[in-house]
Amino acid sequence: MIEIVPFNEDITCVKTATEQDGSAIMFVYAYLVRDALFDTGCANAVDAIREFARGNEINQVYISHSHEDHAGCCKVFEGKAAIYANEPAQKALRNPPQRTEFFKFVWGQPEPVSDLNIMPDRFSIGDLNFDVVPVPGHTMEMVGFYEPVKKWFFSADAVPLPSKKRIAMPDENVPQMVATMEKILTMDIDILFDSHKGPVESPQEHIQTRIDYIKEVQQEAQELHESGKTIEEIQETLKLEGPWYLEMTQGRFGIDIFLKSVLFDKVVS
Ligand SMILES: [Zn+2]
Repeated sequence: MIEIVPFNEDITCVKTATEQDGSAIMFVYAYLVRDALFDTGCANAVDAIREFARGNEINQVYISHSHEDHAGCCKVFEGKAAIYANEPAQKALRNPPQRTEFFKFVWGQPEPVSDLNIMPDRFSIGDLNFDVVPVPGHTMEMVGFYEPVKKWFFSADAVPLPSKKRIAMPDENVPQMVATMEKILTMDIDILFDSHKGPVESPQEHIQTRIDYIKEVQQEAQELHESGKTIEEIQETLKLEGPWYLEMTQGRFGIDIFLKSVLFDKVVS
């Protein structure tokens, strides 16, 4: 399913999701900025995105990272628009990882794309000028797009959706996510265009809440770890519970992965 929500004269929110019993399982936002599209929506919305592309002039596509909810519909634009992605993302776009049944159901399986361009350090859309900003942590290659005059930041998945992040993916580096959020807090931003929350105005408190929670869990986990507790015991002591679907992710998300990351991963960039 798709929902098109105009935000201002330059930006349109393009929300896609898989529909279940008439409502969205979970929305992901792509953003149309004049004739450029930031991310392409989830793979299960490919027909809706194809129709959207027919009705709108889209000449450039900028991909934040290769996850199937962000790069899921690149195929629609191949040969029709210039698709930009950095090298690690390109690798996954050319040869998308095979997703399990659960993720095929939630987001869909992207088709391979080969007509790709290297992500520049900055680009313009008319008189809007964007810096491409590395936002590592959720994935190490992820980038955001910053317009310093408008004070807009398209942050992809840099800021976790839940205020209390308790699950992580094996590729996620949670301390790095915190460092990235702290970097975002130093930027002059009026509107954060989050990929799952949508536009967040004056986002500083929204971001700080998420940093504070992770740091609190990290500190408590460290103390328990130093006292000899196992990951399982730490999880029990801190009463960390996952969402209902956690088992169904078959290890793509885990509370133990989150705890190991906050305890042992290092900030690398
Ligand atoms: Zn992602």
